Amino acid sequence: MIRGLVRYYRPAILYAAALFTVVALIVAAHVLTRPPAPPSIVLITVDSLRADHLGLDGYRRQTSPRIDALARDGVVFERAFTVETLSGPSHASLFTGLYPVTHGVIYNGYRLSEEAVTLAELLRSAGFRTAAYVSDSVLGRDFGFDQGFERFELRQVRTHAKTPKLLNVAARSFHLARHWLRAMRGEKFFLWLHCHQPHFSYNPIPPYDRKFDPEIPDSYPYRNYTKLRTALEEGRLTPTDEARVTALYDGEIAFTDENLGMIFDELRQHPEPVVIVVTSDHGDLLFEPRDPKRVGHGGGHFYEGAMRVPLLIVPPAGFETDVSRVQGLVSSIDVLPTIAEFARVEIPGKIEGRSLKGLLTGTESRGRDAVYAMYLKHDERRTLALRTETHKLIHRAGPDTGELYDLDADPGELHDLAREQPALLQRLTDRVRSWYDERPERLPGAQRSLSPEVEALLRRGGYLDDDHE
Ligand SMILES: [Zn+2]
Repeated sequence: MIRGLVRYYRPAILYAAALFTVVALIVAAHVLTRPPAPPSIVLITVDSLRADHLGLDGYRRQTSPRIDALARDGVVFERAFTVETLSGPSHASLFTGLYPVTHGVIYNGYRLSEEAVTLAELLRSAGFRTAAYVSDSVLGRDFGFDQGFERFELRQVRTHAKTPKLLNVAARSFHLARHWLRAMRGEKFFLWLHCHQPHFSYNPIPPYDRKFDPEIPDSYPYRNYTKLRTALEEGRLTPTDEARVTALYDGEIAFTDENLGMIFDELRQHPEPVVIVVTSDHGDLLFEPRDPKRVGHGGGHFYEGAMRVPLLIVPPAGFETDVSRVQGLVSSIDVLPTIAEFARVEIPGKIEGRSLKGLLTGTESRGRDAVYAMYLKHDERRTLALRTETHKLIHRAGPDTGELYDLDADPGELHDLAREQPALLQRLTDRVRSWYDERPERLPGAQRSLSPEVEALLRRGGYLDDDHE
């Protein structure tokens, strides 16, 4: 019976087999020629992290073994710069590819315009699942940083007197982010993880508080930023204090690095390709020889310790490059177009950043001719910084001529050349002014947005502290 059927249907079976083979070949050819799906994206912003306190930047202490290990799979940008040394404006630039003068978040407490097309919105509209774990209310929903995120979790850990309880809250963000990543297997996703540490106060949870100086007592007063600042202003800090405060800052980095290691382990097990970007919104000044009474950051702190930021980009598996270090100048506004290119999403409209893909592959070797930073809160105190390969100009509004440094000869910015080199000062001043005047029109709707409760919260955290600008 069966044999008879086979004989009866043989021509049809042969025809079906041939058809199946042809279809299988067409499908296989399509799979082979179709570009692979775009990688998922992880953006980690470590608040207040100086580039030169990381092992990958040659720092003397073991603050960052996990980030350093990750860097061996990626590309380190040795001369990356932020556009403003405040969390809100700087993050708004990372998320829009625009300078603060253009996106309008010119100070903490300003709301990012709904007209802004953020990185998260771009990726979400291209089918990426999106989540943000943020540790600072100045980056919260009140200020528009949730645009484009399906999941947006804020855990405020900022006060002038950080306690172990608050730090445990910070550690929780890492666990939640890891949990979310695990649920994203098989999905295309974008994760933004904002780490509050090492933001002041420098008071890391044990054992990180004594990791680099076992002698620091629990009762050490300068674990509290308010007390530290008062002592700085009154000139009461000793060299031992400076060393201790620095050891506490480094302990905060070590805390963050170890927690990030947990995220990196999770990503290593992720079956699909992922791009990982690690950077910071600004550094911190730590007893700079040029400004020895200053610790921390505020608007317009454009010495290298605060303006230069770490930038590490780990391309997805299969990305071919021999480049491991880039010396060219790059800006934090370049992060968005780089991620967009990896994710293969179009950017609608014009942005001011440009993709770093050519520097990553080595097809380009030069970075920007100059990078710019700005402090715009008060027109009468407007400050613009221009940093070329060799020089930095810090130009202030008003009769003050500003400061000029030769960074090759004077990397510590100790010797102001403004009076000695008037022609160069004039040339760079003209350049920064005309650059500023040529900026595109500001996005509509960006404005100060503070409810009394949020204002009180930010003030307690030292955000709206005019003395500290
Ligand atoms: Zn910040």
